Amino acid sequence: MTDQQSGPRHDLLIGGERAEPASGEYLDTVDPATGDAFAEVAVADDTDVDRAVRAARDAFPTWRDTDPAVRGRTLNRIAESIRDHADDLAAVESRDQGKPVSQARSDIVSAARYFEYYAGAADKLEGRSVPVGTGQVDYTLREPYGVSAQIIPWNFPGNLFARGVAPALAAGNAVVVKPAPTTPLSAYRFAELCAEAGVPEGVVNVVSGGGDTGSALTAHDGIDTITFTGSVATGQRVMTAAAEHVTPVTLELGGKNPAIVYPDTDLEAAVSWIERGIFTNGGQVCSAADRAIVHESVYKAFVERIVARAESYDLGPGADDPDMGPLNSEQHRERVREYVAVGVEEGATVATGGESPDHEGYFFEPTVLADVDNRMRIAQEEIFGPVLSVIPYGDDDDPVAIGNDTNYGLVAGVFTEDVRRAHRAAQRLEAGNVYINKWFGDTNQTPFGGYKQSGIGREKGLEALESYLQSKNVAVNLERGGGGDLPGA
Ligand code: NAD
Repeated sequence: MTDQQSGPRHDLLIGGERAEPASGEYLDTVDPATGDAFAEVAVADDTDVDRAVRAARDAFPTWRDTDPAVRGRTLNRIAESIRDHADDLAAVESRDQGKPVSQARSDIVSAARYFEYYAGAADKLEGRSVPVGTGQVDYTLREPYGVSAQIIPWNFPGNLFARGVAPALAAGNAVVVKPAPTTPLSAYRFAELCAEAGVPEGVVNVVSGGGDTGSALTAHDGIDTITFTGSVATGQRVMTAAAEHVTPVTLELGGKNPAIVYPDTDLEAAVSWIERGIFTNGGQVCSAADRAIVHESVYKAFVERIVARAESYDLGPGADDPDMGPLNSEQHRERVREYVAVGVEEGATVATGGESPDHEGYFFEPTVLADVDNRMRIAQEEIFGPVLSVIPYGDDDDPVAIGNDTNYGLVAGVFTEDVRRAHRAAQRLEAGNVYINKWFGDTNQTPFGGYKQSGIGREKGLEALESYLQSKNVAVNLERGGGGDLPGA
């Protein structure tokens, strides 16, 4: 470590070895609670990405051909090891990302659960036999793609590493992971634990860096499938790059998620779910409860109660386990601040918050914007911060239509005591996940993904394995001699 270094250096992980970046470039990772750099991370360029993809290609056949039961046991060891190191991993994640350490710990335990869940699937990835008549046998095989590129955002870095890497490995793929530039540390730590658990060298590679590193990865012709989690704008760029080599993509993008509060609901319970839905991880959650669409008869009471809860939040460094930590970067905090200003210009009322506390770090107060109209930008664009927009509706309005009226379709929630109304709404809501009388209603076992511009494909659950397996159909003739089958017959 030289005097110029801001902290320990993290080199790339390529083919089981730590490698200095070809360019010699490193970027600082910053503690968002103080703004101080505390580690340096290598920036991978095209040359490094090429080496990582080649290492993954070389390692792939061995991992693919490993007995699936052994792959499963290896994943179980990774899960155990993550649990054993949960406190350390949570501390690293909390410092790098900013979130309260108890939330970071929950992310890490959930990451272990991904490895455990897909460990159980590794030896059950069965094809089927197809009844095509006598004299023939026909069956399908489910085979891994090869090398999976995993591009991760900064809001749940370690957890999203596990969400993509665990099913990819269970299915027999090798991976090249690119963490976000502001939160790269947990990816390196997870990759080390994979190696210690017995994943062969080169099966898990990590190349840190920013957008240029990501675009080098998605443009590489040695990548067989891409899993991208991030914003719609970057997802569109990833899809365009993938088109060059016809590489399949799974895109998990943003949301502008409606929480519909019907007049018959248990208001205190709804407020409590929505409060956690919008303020957890400082609102930096793709499935945050961004828009509360509230019946006018309970609107005033809803706003009063959620304001009271927002004002009770204590903000502090993640390590102190406050209710809410800082936002992940200064640039992001300024973006959130701008959105609040846009909302005010558009006619929304700041019922509480809207400011940063007067001390160091990238903090932003839990904010409630009232009198929001769904056509406003603050109701249409993803803010990705602790900012709730509250939209009133009346008896003549259709709250589900208001909820659906965005380009996004990730999650949606309804709060009502009426079971018929709840299920009717669930049928009509244009979202990949619907929560009834709760928020964040998904687990590692349940499929997750977006309708409309919120994405393509599904993560989590058994559905996620489809992103990492391709079907091969095998047709066998049991008769002797030539034949005359025509194509497509
Ligand atoms: P982002 O799109 O800016 O970046 C995501 C990742 O892509 C980062 O690793 C970034 O370095 C990389 N990247 C940037 N340019 C690239 C390019 N041209 N090619 C390839 N990779 C590139 O997103 P972000 O700001 O890091 O994350 C926030 C977004 O992620 C929000 O929109 C949020 O809703 C979304 N998100 C979605 C889910 C989900 O499951 N649907 C989960 C978490 C976050």
